Amino acid sequence: MSLIVQKYGGTSVASIACMMHVARKIKATQSAGHDVVVVVSAMGDETDRLEGLAFQITEQPMAREMDVLLATGEQVSIALLSMALQSIGCAAKSYTGFQVGIHTDTAHTRARIEHIEEAKIREDLERGFVVVVAGFQGIDANGNITTLGRGGSDTTAVALAATLKADECQIYTDVDGVYTADPRMVPDARRMPRVTFDEMLEMASLGAQVLQIRAVEFAGKYNVPLRVLSTFKEGSGTLITFEEKGMEQPIVSGLAFSREEAKLIIRGVPDKPGIAGQILGPISEAHIEVDMIIQNLGDDGNTDFTFTVHRRDYDRARAILEKIDKELNAKGILGDAKIAKVSLVGVGMRSHAGIASTMFEVLGKEGINIQLISTSEIKVSVVVDEKYLELGVRTLHEAFRLHEEPYEEDYEHRLRA
Ligand code: ADP
Ligand code: ASP
Ligand code: MG
Repeated sequence: MSLIVQKYGGTSVASIACMMHVARKIKATQSAGHDVVVVVSAMGDETDRLEGLAFQITEQPMAREMDVLLATGEQVSIALLSMALQSIGCAAKSYTGFQVGIHTDTAHTRARIEHIEEAKIREDLERGFVVVVAGFQGIDANGNITTLGRGGSDTTAVALAATLKADECQIYTDVDGVYTADPRMVPDARRMPRVTFDEMLEMASLGAQVLQIRAVEFAGKYNVPLRVLSTFKEGSGTLITFEEKGMEQPIVSGLAFSREEAKLIIRGVPDKPGIAGQILGPISEAHIEVDMIIQNLGDDGNTDFTFTVHRRDYDRARAILEKIDKELNAKGILGDAKIAKVSLVGVGMRSHAGIASTMFEVLGKEGINIQLISTSEIKVSVVVDEKYLELGVRTLHEAFRLHEEPYEEDYEHRLRA
């Protein structure tokens, strides 16, 4: 008998009708002879609604209370889904993160899972129950409720699958797999039957919200077979795999984007050792994550120092920079909170030069100005004005022919055609 962990996201349980559909799918899995542990998200946009309530009271709610609030969404779902299962003759039992024993660190609103108790779950499975666990939440060493960051139910599912050594972790959502680009933005994006952990990690961290990045990290680290599937459509979805030797890889596999970027520039800082640390030290002390960093040397021996942050941190980062500007006697701050990042991802890029230059050419022909560039072995990212995001994404998808099945040999030929 095998053990399967299934996770159902918000749209999959957005209404009672959806819950009943999900319950029937779970029952069918159990009837096929599997033990099933289910992780479920809050219904529809419930988490957004709850966040909205808090922001009506204050711009900066206490993170501890935010976690108490947000965790309620998943509690509603586990109870209703268990009732739905029971109503069709499937024994089920619900658990909050606290009740299972999902232990996390103390970082409210972005906690990390440290370990999960498995005794209770094993016992219930042996007695024939479907175990329904609340995603996205846990408990810290002091008994406080914590949450794992938006999209965190994916991570709950993968962590449970790792702990229980499940045969597969299935992420059921509103798309039938991982696509070459977000199908909501690119209608002719293509589903990828397989994608490597490395690519999925890049895609997730560069904005593809289909899987939470920590879930992918966890699955890679603990070797959890991970599959993305549709709740509403039959199919084999996308399997996230390790790269196999000799496996043919397209050069560019997919395209990710993020609108949630902002850029800050501190102008005319002295070009001497220690300056980058003086600028970015206070930013990191304020727990603001910095993404791209660029320094340009001017004629006068001073440099302009540019970096990007998440858009929600823009105002705070700017306020910190204003102070640093005075301390360093620099030439002022420039900023832009209306930028977006577009990235090409593919493990095949390791062995192929020229992808970045082709990308720049394609964007240039469309009159899209590139503001910042960053590259790694398997990705190229550019920052552009937000208003060009859709045009940029669709043009690149088309130019790299991502809608077509990839064949590496004639790739360059096709690009020229
Ligand atoms: P859930 O509520 O089930 O967790 P999410 O909204 O978090 O679902 O993730 C699914 C969404 O991810 C899809 O509706 C799709 O718009 C988006 N998405 C972004 N990039 C991709 C991609 N490359 N492939 C598939 N879906 C993507
Ligand atoms: N409900 C949470 C969110 O909307 C967690 C999740 O759905 O994964 O982010
Ligand atoms: Mg999600």
